[in-house]
Amino acid sequence: MTSSTLMVSVSGMRGIVGTDLTPELVARYAAALGAWAVGRGQPVVVVGRDARTSGAMFAQAAIAGLNSVGVNVIDVGVVPTPTVQLAVEHHHAGAGLIITASHNPVQWNALKFVGPDGIFLDAAAGAAVRALADEGPSRAGWDGIGSVRRDDQAVDRHLEAVYRLVDVDAIRARRFVVALDCVRGAGGPVITKLLEHLGCRVAGIHLEPDGRFPREPEPLPENLGELCQLVRDSGADIGLAVDPDVDRLALVDEHGRAIGEDYTLAFAVRAVLSRARRGDPATVVANLSTSLVVEDAAAAFGAKFVRAAVGEANVAEAIKTEGALIGGEGNGGVILPSLHIGRDAPLGVALILQYLAVEGTTPSQVVAGAPRYRIVKAKSPRGANLEVLYRGLVERFHDGQVDRRDGLRLGWRDRWVHVRPSGTEPIIRYIAEAPTEEAARALIATCQELV
Ligand code: MG
Repeated sequence: MTSSTLMVSVSGMRGIVGTDLTPELVARYAAALGAWAVGRGQPVVVVGRDARTSGAMFAQAAIAGLNSVGVNVIDVGVVPTPTVQLAVEHHHAGAGLIITASHNPVQWNALKFVGPDGIFLDAAAGAAVRALADEGPSRAGWDGIGSVRRDDQAVDRHLEAVYRLVDVDAIRARRFVVALDCVRGAGGPVITKLLEHLGCRVAGIHLEPDGRFPREPEPLPENLGELCQLVRDSGADIGLAVDPDVDRLALVDEHGRAIGEDYTLAFAVRAVLSRARRGDPATVVANLSTSLVVEDAAAAFGAKFVRAAVGEANVAEAIKTEGALIGGEGNGGVILPSLHIGRDAPLGVALILQYLAVEGTTPSQVVAGAPRYRIVKAKSPRGANLEVLYRGLVERFHDGQVDRRDGLRLGWRDRWVHVRPSGTEPIIRYIAEAPTEEAARALIATCQELV
């Protein structure tokens, strides 16, 4: 249980299949999550997974573990992560268990624990589940074993909920041609169905949900060359890429240029705020490392913009406390609390197509209509004392706005730099954004001089 690649986090664990993530371990943690739900008087758990080749094996182990503590399992099969979260709410389940390593390479898999509210477990609940796993939950006898039933309607319910939030007729009238790359994860059938319902013609690659990722699965521009080519070859109006568990969405413009994941949330913010009733106070939440393009999108509609610490749980918490209309992360994660508080790529697709349809615009025009920035990332070995580094940086950049909630973030109107220790490696990560790459690099160089 202490192998170097097995990582246990607040709301789950991940590891390399066969090396440190084994069916025995999965069954044990699933039993612990089940015991936690039983202890709260809600002995029903929804199980779903992405398309990884190890997924079926781990799902069987997880279901056995859950049944062993008396939990009745609802198995939603190979579905997007947000679909599982919605199914937990729909079934009033005590918890959800998602078997997915999200954007990580194919040799990884992971467990993600969802609470009864459809949101990933917070630190306290996650610690309670870990404690149950360590002590070994008490198992049911022959007459207390839980049941299993399939729910094949979870995706359709999810998509129906998305359709209710957008102007389907307006999108259909545009008759979009959409290029789509789902990296052979869980998204292919789901996003195809969504697009066809919205009257789009789909030119797709890697739509087979067999988990045999043909490229690095994270939807970063450098991994989307094939999709960019497909956009040009098919004359598509937009290119869409999702990660294997379909909570992150990246866009390619109509000229075949990958525009970066930050624009996903910026487009979605414009989609939602452009239809919000005038005069309604609107708040947008993103994290400390999210691009200024999102802040600019909020400002264009007079919305309040709030930044939360990095991590989906922190963004979710801020969305709740701020009563935000929309929020998310700069990595392509769109959260619309009126649907549920979790990143949702199918929702993002529908919102963005609606915006393009209603405004009669194109992705490249939306990008060109607002200031452009460059983001630069770097890292260096972690020194002895981060506090000394942070104090030095605050002195050096005395005119910057200081935020200490998550490492150190220094902000100005059109640029910022964020310095924080990695959670998984002994390094310091730097991320800077400025109107030019040169200016962003200069911010990072100054930080690194002080390390
Ligand atoms: Mg993901």
